[in-house]
Amino acid sequence: MDLPVDEWKSYVFQKWSLLPKSIQDTISTADALRDIFLHSSSLLQPEDEMFLNNLSRGYFVGKDPNAPPFYREEGNKKFQKKDYVGATVLYSKGISHSRPHTVDISLCYANRSAALFYLDQYEMCLKDITRAQMHGYPERLQPKVMLRKTECLVTLGRLQEAGQTIRDLESNFAAKPTLAAAQFQILQRNLCRLKRKVQEKGNLTETYTATLTKTFEDMDLREENEQISSASSSVSLCIDPLKGRYLIATKDILPGELLVKEDAFVSVLNPGEMPPGLHHGLENKWDTRVTNGDLYCHRCLKHTLATVPCDGCSYAKYCSNECMQQAWDLYHQIECSLGGLLLTLGIFCHIALRSTLLARFEDASKVIRKLCSEISNKDMCSPESENLVQILNYDLGEEGERHGKTVKIPVPGCDINGKYENNYNAVFNLLAHTENHSPEYKFLCALSVSALCRQLEAADSKKPETAAPPALYSELNIWGVAMLKHMLQLQCNAQAITTIQETALSGSKENNVSNSRQIRLATGIFPVVSLLNHSCSPNTSVSFISTVATIRASQQIGKGQEILHCYGPHYSRMGVADRQQKLRSQYFFDCGCPACQKEKHRAVARPRWEAFCCNQCGALLQGGDILSCGSMSCTESVSRDHLTSQLQDLQQQVGIAQELLRSGKLEQAVQLLLECRHDAESFLSTEHSMVGEIEDALAQTYAALGDWQKSATHLQKSLRVVEVRHGPSSVEVGHELFKLAQLFFNGFAIPEALNTVERAEKVLMVHYGPCNDEIQELQKMKSCLLNSPPIPLGPSL
Ligand SMILES: [Zn+2]
Ligand SMILES: [Zn+2]
Ligand SMILES: [Zn+2]
Ligand SMILES: [Zn+2]
Repeated sequence: MDLPVDEWKSYVFQKWSLLPKSIQDTISTADALRDIFLHSSSLLQPEDEMFLNNLSRGYFVGKDPNAPPFYREEGNKKFQKKDYVGATVLYSKGISHSRPHTVDISLCYANRSAALFYLDQYEMCLKDITRAQMHGYPERLQPKVMLRKTECLVTLGRLQEAGQTIRDLESNFAAKPTLAAAQFQILQRNLCRLKRKVQEKGNLTETYTATLTKTFEDMDLREENEQISSASSSVSLCIDPLKGRYLIATKDILPGELLVKEDAFVSVLNPGEMPPGLHHGLENKWDTRVTNGDLYCHRCLKHTLATVPCDGCSYAKYCSNECMQQAWDLYHQIECSLGGLLLTLGIFCHIALRSTLLARFEDASKVIRKLCSEISNKDMCSPESENLVQILNYDLGEEGERHGKTVKIPVPGCDINGKYENNYNAVFNLLAHTENHSPEYKFLCALSVSALCRQLEAADSKKPETAAPPALYSELNIWGVAMLKHMLQLQCNAQAITTIQETALSGSKENNVSNSRQIRLATGIFPVVSLLNHSCSPNTSVSFISTVATIRASQQIGKGQEILHCYGPHYSRMGVADRQQKLRSQYFFDCGCPACQKEKHRAVARPRWEAFCCNQCGALLQGGDILSCGSMSCTESVSRDHLTSQLQDLQQQVGIAQELLRSGKLEQAVQLLLECRHDAESFLSTEHSMVGEIEDALAQTYAALGDWQKSATHLQKSLRVVEVRHGPSSVEVGHELFKLAQLFFNGFAIPEALNTVERAEKVLMVHYGPCNDEIQELQKMKSCLLNSPPIPLGPSL
C-alpha cells in the first residue's frame, strides 16, 4: 500500500542485483540525495518504463461509458432489497464512470437521491436532485424528482420552498398536458397530500428545531503557541543532540487538554484493501465491491454516501463540488491522468508528488532556491563544516560566541524568526535518514520517482495548453530529488490517519448495538505532530476529524515533562522484543522508554492477558518452556508448546463462531462460543485476552438475539479483560463502555445505562474531545434517559 506493488518492487530489486558492483557502490556510498537520484535515473530504461506502464494499466481509472447502465442496474437490485446504502454506493460508481451532461449521469444521480431519501438524508437527497437536473434529467421524469424534492423540503421544515416547488409542478402540468391519465392521477393525489402536509407543518409554528449542530467549543486551542503554529501554549519546542527536536510541557497539563490541533500538510486517501478496478480477466471488469475510495472524500476525508466524481477520471471522488475544485486546483489537474501509475507506485510516492505540487503555492522560487542551495550545500560541505552546522543547529536559537562571531541559528524547520509552522519548509526539514535506508530501498524509491518524473514530462508535452506552472517542469530534476527525499522521510514521518468505522451487528435493525473498529483511512504528513518523540506508554492520545489531527493529554503531565506519542508499538499490544525490533527497523532507534526499561531489565512475568492457569486447581502457571503450578499444594506441570497449540485450536474455534455470528446463525454461534468458553476456563487465566474475545462475541450474539441482559453480563466480563490490559482510562475501555451503554439503553435499564453513559463519556472525552461521534451519541442517550419515558434510539446510519 505505502510502497510500490510487489511486481514492480521485485523487478527493481532484480535490476539492482544485476547492476555491476561499481555502480552499486556508487549509489550505496553516495550520501547526497542528488547523486542517488541522478545515478538511478540514468539507469531507467524504456523497457523498465514499459513494464511499469503495463502494471499501471491493470488499474482501471478512466471512465467507461458502458459501466453506468450496469451499475445503475445493480444499484436498482439493491434498492429493491431495501439495501439503500449498498444502492447509493453502486449509483456512485455509475456516476464516477459517466461523462458530465449525459443521461447516464443524471439518471444515476436521480436514483441515488431516492436511496438517500429512504436513508433520511434529505439534504444530500436535495443536492442530488439538483445535480440530476443540472446534467439534463429527462423532462418526462421530472415530476417524480420534484415530488421527492417537496417531501424533503417539508421534512426539513423549509415550507416556503416546498410551496414554491408544488406551484412549479402544477404550472408545469398545466403547460404540458401530455402525461398519461393514470400517472396524472397519482401525481395529483401526491400533490394534495403534500399540500396538506405543508399546511399542517405551517400551523405548528416553529416547533421545528434546527438540526443538531456540533459544538466546537473546546475544539480550538485555548491559547495558540507563539513559537509553533497549531500547538497550544502549554508546550514548547526543544532540541537536543541525542533526541533531536521534541516538545515539553511548560505548565502542568490535565488529562484531556488539547495540545496540538493540526491539519495535514498533505494527505492521500488509502484506497483500501481492494484497489479500485484492479481486474484480472474480464468477468470482474466492473467492480461492485465497496472500498474506502467509495465512502470517503479524496480531499478532506469526510465520510459521505453522495460522492461527486472528477470529470476526468473514475477514481477521484469528493464530498462536494468545492472539494473537487480545490483538489483540482491544488494537485489533481496534474495527478488526474496518472491515477494508474500512482496506484502502482504506492502511497509514499503519491504523497511525495503531492507535497511538491503543494510546495508550488508557497513562493515556488524561494523553495527552489532553497532546494538548490540545500542540495549543493550538502555536496560542498566537508565533514568538518557539516559538523559545525550541526553544532550550531543544536544551539537552540540562542545567541552564542562561535568561532569568533555571533551566530543565531534557529531549530531546523523554523523560519528566520524562529517560528515553526505547518508548511513546506518544515516538511522539507523532516529527517530522511538517508544513511540508514538499505541501498536497494533507496534505488527502488529513486527509480520510482524517476519514472514518475518521465511521465510528468510526457503528460506535459502532450497537452502544452494545460501546462503546469513552468517551475515544476523546468526544474524537474530538482523536484525529483525533493520527491526522493520525501519518500525516504515518510518511513519515519508518515502519520496514519485513522477513523472508527461502525459496523452494525448482525440481526435486525432494532438491535442497535454497533461494533467499532479502527481503520486506516489515509496517510499524511503533519510537521507539528512529527515533533513528538515516541514512547511505548505515551502520555497523549491522537485522533482525527477529517484531515485534522488532535493530540490530547491522556494523563496528567507535569511541567517540564516531555510530551510523548506512540508511533504504533504500544506496550499493551506488543511484547518488548517485538517493539524494539519494529522501532529499530522502521524508525532507526532503540527505545528507552520506561515501559521498555522495566520490561528489559526486570524480566517481568508475562502479562496477565497472556497467562495460563492450572488445569487442576486454577492457579496461575509459572515458568519458561515448562510451566508449573504456582500453588504450593499442586504438582501439575505442562510444556508451553502444548499450551500454545491448545490456544491456537481455541482461536480457530472462536474464528468459526464469529463467522457463524456474521452470517446470522446465532443459535449455532452461542453453542460454539459456550463450548469455547468452557475450554478456555480449563487453561487460560480469567483475564486472558482470548477470554475477553469470547465474552465479547457472546455479548454480540445475545444482543443480536435481543437478550439484553445476557449480552450485558458478557460484555461486562469482556470489559474487565480490556481494563486489565489497556488500563481503566484507555480509549479501548471507552469503546467497550460505549457498547455497554448502548446495551443498557436498548434494554431500558435506566440507572445502569445512565451510569455507563457517564463513565463512557468521561473516558472518551479525554481521548477525543466533544466533537467525537460517540460522545455525541452518548449525549443524545443521556438526554433521552433523563427525559424518560425511555424511547429506543432509531437505527444509527
Ligand atoms: Zn471533501
Ligand atoms: Zn481526475
Ligand atoms: Zn519503548
Ligand atoms: Zn495447580
